[in-house]
Amino acid sequence: MRVLEPMIELGRGLWITFKQTFFNPVVTVSYPEEKRQVRPRYRGRHVLKRYENGLEKCIGCSLCAAACPADAIFVEASENTDENRFSPGERYASTYEINMLRCIYCGFCEDACPTEAIVLGDNYELSFTSRRDAIYTKEMLLETVPSSDMTTPRSVEPGVYTRSVPEMKDPQD
Ligand code: SF4
Ligand code: SF4
Repeated sequence: MRVLEPMIELGRGLWITFKQTFFNPVVTVSYPEEKRQVRPRYRGRHVLKRYENGLEKCIGCSLCAAACPADAIFVEASENTDENRFSPGERYASTYEINMLRCIYCGFCEDACPTEAIVLGDNYELSFTSRRDAIYTKEMLLETVPSSDMTTPRSVEPGVYTRSVPEMKDPQD
């Protein structure tokens, strides 16, 4: 009977392989053709948000840069005018950069922002081949607009967008 023991063990091993292959759910994902759904609270690449009318939410206050523990954000603000308006209120971010090599995806910038302008999204496709390319500029981070008449800067009616921080509900998770 001893001679049969290796055959039995071999059969057992093949049966486990067969079971795993044909009856258990496949856990591998054929990336990049197939993309895995991330968790609702996942923190991926940042997005600079706009209001529904297309104006930029960022007012260039630099609170995100001050809150960032990795010193990854650089903001430079400039003055809005009604003829050349980017965002509500006095100022907008004329330069906004995030160094993705420094970022640790802690979300402090998101928490510090008074207008909910900077949000960590679900995009995890971050690849670059040089340090320079790891610095994401405002143009790369800013949300796109649905139509060309909603782009910024644009001319608006005088005296309408005087409040930098609109009244908002408590942020929802
Ligand atoms: S997620 Fe954290 S480390 Fe990254 S830019 Fe925001 S505050 Fe800085
Ligand atoms: S993203 Fe928010 S915190 Fe950062 S500069 Fe813009 S408005 Fe201020």
